[in-house]
Amino acid sequence: MPAVEIVRTIDEVRDAIGGASPVFLVPTMGYFHEGHLSLIRTAAEDKVSEPEGLVAVSLFVNPTQFNDPKDLEAYPRDEERDAALAREAGCDLLFLPTAREMYPPDEGGTRVMPPRVARKWEGEHRPGHFVGVATVVLKLFHIFFPDVAYFGEKDWQQCRVIAEMVRDLNLPVWLKLCPTVREPDGLAMSSRNTRLSKEARARAVELYRALLAVADAAARGEDFQKECERAKERLFAAGFESVDYIAVVDGETLEPASAPGPGLRAIGAATIEGVRLIDNVSVD
Ligand code: AMP
Repeated sequence: MPAVEIVRTIDEVRDAIGGASPVFLVPTMGYFHEGHLSLIRTAAEDKVSEPEGLVAVSLFVNPTQFNDPKDLEAYPRDEERDAALAREAGCDLLFLPTAREMYPPDEGGTRVMPPRVARKWEGEHRPGHFVGVATVVLKLFHIFFPDVAYFGEKDWQQCRVIAEMVRDLNLPVWLKLCPTVREPDGLAMSSRNTRLSKEARARAVELYRALLAVADAAARGEDFQKECERAKERLFAAGFESVDYIAVVDGETLEPASAPGPGLRAIGAATIEGVRLIDNVSVD
C-alpha cells in the first residue's frame, strides 16, 4: 500500500497536488470513525477510473466553528491513528495544518456570511458555528481546488449550508453527499461519542429512535408536532439533560414543515452527559 503523504502547510499542499487531476477532497476534523472512512473510501472509488486523480483529506479541528471553548478543548485528537486509517481507506494526501497556518496572526478577519439555511437549528443554538464552517470550507476549496468534495448527511444542515454557498458563490466544485454511517444499534457515528460513559452511550441511541418515531408519524400523515413533543419527553426519560430541538423540516430550506409532504427531514440535537449529539433521518 503506498504511503500517505502528510503535509502541514498550504504551500506543501500545492506542491503535493502538482498536476494531479481530478482532486477529490474530504474535509474533516479527525478522530476517524467509519463515517469519515466511508467518505474517504467513496473518494478512493471515484479515483479508480482516474489515473491522474488524487484523494486528499484535510484534518483540522477548526476553532472558528466552535462556539463552546470547552467543546474545542475536549475534541478528541490522534494524528497517528488517523494517518494510518486514512491510508487504509485510500487517502493519498493528508493535510494537517496548525491553527496558525489556517488563521495566521496577521489575518484580516475576513469571514463568510452563511446563507439563510444556516439561521435556524444549529445556527441558532451554536452562534457563529456556520460562519466558521463556511469560512473554513471555502478556504479549503481555495487551498485544494477540488473537483469533488465529500460531506456526510449526518450533518444535514451543514450539507445544505455548503451546497448553498457553492451555488451562491459559483464555486467550481461538485459536492457528493454520503449517507450516515451508524453503530449496530443505530446511533450515528461521531467523534464525540467516545466521550460518553458506557451507560450514556447505551442510552444515546434514543435520539435516533425518537427521530425515527417522528419521521414515521410524519410519513403516515399524523400530527408530527405532537410526536416531536413526545420525542423530547422520551429523551429526558432516557437521561438526556437537554434537548435543543426535535423538528420536521423541509430538507432543502430547513424551514419547519407545516404539513406532511415530499422531501421532509426529521432533525434533532440533544445533550447527554455533557455531550451534544445531532442526527437526522429522512421522512419517506
Ligand atoms: P467531522 O470530522 O465531524 O467534521 O466530519 C467530517 C465529515 O464526515 C463531515 O462531512 C461529516 O458530515 C462526515 N461525517 C461525520 N460523521 C458521519 C457519519 N456517522 N456518517 C457519515 N458521515 C459522517
